[in-house]
Amino acid sequence: MRYAQLHSHLEGSLKLDFIECSWENRVEVYNWFGSKKRTVEDLLACLNQYGDRTDFFSEIRVDYQGNLTDYSFSKELLKEFRRLPSIYSLRRQNCPLEDTSTIIQLFNDGLICGVDFTGREYGNPPSKFYKVMGKLEYENIPYTYHLGEQSGDEELIQLLKFNPRRIGHGLSISEKNIGLILEKGIHIEVCLTSNIYTKRASLHNHPVLLLYERGCSFSLNEDDSVFFNTNIVNEYAILKSILPEADLDKVYEDTFKASFSSLS
Ligand SMILES: [Zn+2]
Repeated sequence: MRYAQLHSHLEGSLKLDFIECSWENRVEVYNWFGSKKRTVEDLLACLNQYGDRTDFFSEIRVDYQGNLTDYSFSKELLKEFRRLPSIYSLRRQNCPLEDTSTIIQLFNDGLICGVDFTGREYGNPPSKFYKVMGKLEYENIPYTYHLGEQSGDEELIQLLKFNPRRIGHGLSISEKNIGLILEKGIHIEVCLTSNIYTKRASLHNHPVLLLYERGCSFSLNEDDSVFFNTNIVNEYAILKSILPEADLDKVYEDTFKASFSSLS
């Protein structure tokens, strides 16, 4: 069996012994990463540690923790680490709404393969980021958008006024709006264990059932493997338990076809 994923966050995927936290204290993991502004050396150590565990294809999201618009910081970091395709995470709650110059430079230098809108959905509807999305599309920079963990149909329709290549989670996808997803050929990054753990969906009513039935392109993903105590092999097994007829090779192929790194 071959495995691939597109939705994995660096800060939620570090080995517990690396950050000296225990499974029982996962909140420490989050605090460890979010507690201070990271140096290039800190982030390099994290990226190298992540790279060590990767025996499957993965795109990794990196959050720069306050260094968001610092081109020299990001460049210094990313040029040192080429083993994994990196996606630039933009936290919605502190996303620069005008200045996309750092992202454009990093992309044009081949240091990132795409962009991810993440963080708080409440108070940050897609319409707030139309300008940023417009600039990314103008520059032909692919982006994905975390959607549906805390929002519904209205936000999905707002987002689909633009053209994200992929949607993370996509828990607001339903019979009502899946036609638009199919029409636009958007790939969905499904995170089963994460959604169950955060109680956003159950396996019996998870949108992956609809995505599969309607032939929508989707991948299976860890999201934050340490927080949710999962791995990509487990995610594939869970899909097989709810959809025994699912062709996992097709999921693997669709994942590769939707990868940002394959576009460049
Ligand atoms: Zn995520």
